[in-house]
Amino acid sequence: MKNARIITPLPGPLARELIARDAAVVSPAYSRDYPFVMAHGRGAEVWDVDGNRFLDFAAGIAVCSTGHSHPAVVQAVKDAADRFLHISSDFWHEGQVRLAERMAQLAPMKEPVMSFFAQSGTESVEAALKLARHATGRPRFIAFLGGFHGRTMGSLAFTASKYTQQKGFFPTMPGVTHVPYPNPYRPLFAGDESGEATLHYVERTLFASNLPPGEIAAVLVEPIQGEGGYIVPPDGFLAGLRALCDRHGILLIFDEVQCGVGRTGRMFASEHWGVAPDIVTLAKGLGSGLPIGLMLAKRSIMERWPRGAHGNTFGGNPLCCAAALATLDLVEAQYRENAARVGRHFMQRLRDLAARHAVIGEVRGKGLMIGMELVTDRGSRTPATALCEAVVTRAFHNGLLLLACGTSTVRFMPPLMIGEADVDEAIAILDASLDEAGACATADGSR
Ligand code: PLP
Repeated sequence: MKNARIITPLPGPLARELIARDAAVVSPAYSRDYPFVMAHGRGAEVWDVDGNRFLDFAAGIAVCSTGHSHPAVVQAVKDAADRFLHISSDFWHEGQVRLAERMAQLAPMKEPVMSFFAQSGTESVEAALKLARHATGRPRFIAFLGGFHGRTMGSLAFTASKYTQQKGFFPTMPGVTHVPYPNPYRPLFAGDESGEATLHYVERTLFASNLPPGEIAAVLVEPIQGEGGYIVPPDGFLAGLRALCDRHGILLIFDEVQCGVGRTGRMFASEHWGVAPDIVTLAKGLGSGLPIGLMLAKRSIMERWPRGAHGNTFGGNPLCCAAALATLDLVEAQYRENAARVGRHFMQRLRDLAARHAVIGEVRGKGLMIGMELVTDRGSRTPATALCEAVVTRAFHNGLLLLACGTSTVRFMPPLMIGEADVDEAIAILDASLDEAGACATADGSR
């Protein structure tokens, strides 16, 4: 392989040793697909404890937006750490106010916006749900099949990308009704316009038969579905959802935890369609690796919950705020544009690859949020789930870190600073990995 430097069988001896120690003391609940044991990273490259070098197109699940240990982010965190490590949300500090001011300028709402600080995606979503209930006085919500919003008991009630996330945890928060997310590749409703069909289903069937719209606080939706399969909704869907919410006094919450902060080539993915939500959740790429989440809401809504209604200990941590401010500087100045440009090159290279590999059913996405759907044959569009897992595993052995999503989609969420040469290297590894995974599947008859 051109630049990959895999120098031991994987996992190497030091990785094996650490994984064995981990198995004795760390919870087995985590989804760990292949044995990568991190030693250090720079930009889009990571090294494992045995000295093997990988290209990282998973970026800590879309978190390391500016690349691993970007010097400007590291410096900002060091400077903040030298001043103080923590003060709590009971007090004020400059970094937190500066970040909220910055978000107020960037937010996709066309009116004044306020921030609530958290540490993770799920906590941002919990804050959005609590605010929506409090502000509207309404108890119910609408969510989407395939959606992922976190794993705490509130956000978990909305999460619906794999049943294993739910199994064994019922009852979660009551009052959530799921509807199909419009998937143009595999529409659940008949007809060409899956977005419109979903909206009609909600308004004409659900509201008429079962769900009183006047009891719905909010609709929670990912502008581009992440864990559910990197699904880009049809044009007009988000605008239609906005109009539906407005007709019934329902708040619209965009979960941009995965698709936000420049990943799609825009600061917020919803900007691709020019649709403004009432509330937005962010986390992942915002802190370049430091744990920060934000819930942004129109001031007219945020002002509706009083002092003491919600809070936390670590929200607005000074190191996380410093990392987020440095990240936003880089994303605004260079990486948002870079994601759009390099993303176009990447999509083209993947589409070229599809000409060689009939198992690639579709390549879709925006910016550097790209999914490659694998199918057993293009006519039936049947998901090739085992093959997808095998491709991700073979890519690891060839020096490329990837993750899957949906039923059979390989997802690409590299750091936003990658160049075209990184893409070309990844494509070469992917090409070989598709061949190898296909050969294994053919040999054991599993495809
Ligand atoms: N929302 C979306 C869209 C996500 O993709 C995720 C995580 O993958 C979450 C929320 C939950 O974030 P966290 O894992 O930080 O709790």
